[in-house]
Amino acid sequence: MLVYVWSTHTLAPGKLRARLQEMCDRIGLRYRRILVWNSGGQVTNAAVTGLLAPVRYIMLSDGLLETMREEEIEAVFGHEAGHVKHHHLVFFLFFAILSMCLAGGAALLPVRLGWVEARDVQTQQTIILIALAVIWAFGFGWVSRHFERQADLYGARSLMPRLNESDVSCHVHGTGDDTRGDPPDRFAVAAECFARALLQIADLNGIPPEARSWRHSSIASRVEQLRRFARDRGAMARFDRRLLIIKVGLFAATAIACAAAAKIYWPW
Ligand SMILES: [Zn+2]
Repeated sequence: MLVYVWSTHTLAPGKLRARLQEMCDRIGLRYRRILVWNSGGQVTNAAVTGLLAPVRYIMLSDGLLETMREEEIEAVFGHEAGHVKHHHLVFFLFFAILSMCLAGGAALLPVRLGWVEARDVQTQQTIILIALAVIWAFGFGWVSRHFERQADLYGARSLMPRLNESDVSCHVHGTGDDTRGDPPDRFAVAAECFARALLQIADLNGIPPEARSWRHSSIASRVEQLRRFARDRGAMARFDRRLLIIKVGLFAATAIACAAAAKIYWPW
């Protein structure tokens, strides 16, 4: 529906599409089509939609294609690919199911404890609404910001095979031909390229780099994180572990909550 509600058309064959297709082949990303999102040049952004490959579209806005260089578009594309490859939509679905189970539990508990009468449906519905608002305002924002950072890291990593050490002057190590220190490694170069694409997007959209939102951390802190990972591989490994724990936790909590809900509500 989104593909039709937003004005879109298929990205024309050419150098850019071949480059993006090559990246998809490399990382094993399956999708229906790469689309250009017509915004009259108003939007510089990208999006991915669709849980399953047959209905998965990757959308790049016209503003993005007009104003950014190919490697920067590839970086943004890599971020969107990261959402797909890390199955973020599936985990958001787990989050939605879990939030309903938790809100239901929050309404049921006072009834079981005898604080609220079983026939007082209005109070129970109020509890459900408040619980859902709190869970989504804080929990979903927190999970989403972690997923955005994981997609950033994926985007940076996906640029690595294409970049040569001398391609980009590195924030940490200086330019690639700088002989005064260690040469920048591939990840440092890729992270810097990705960070620049992010800063460019903030600039083109008129977003202050420090601005935060519900679902995204500030661009400045995302850039800083990538540069920190380039300096400190231990921090990067800890971040990878943390995301694994969040995902295993979401899956386990959803499975337990569904089992509990089935036990409570069966055979309703
Ligand atoms: Zn994202």
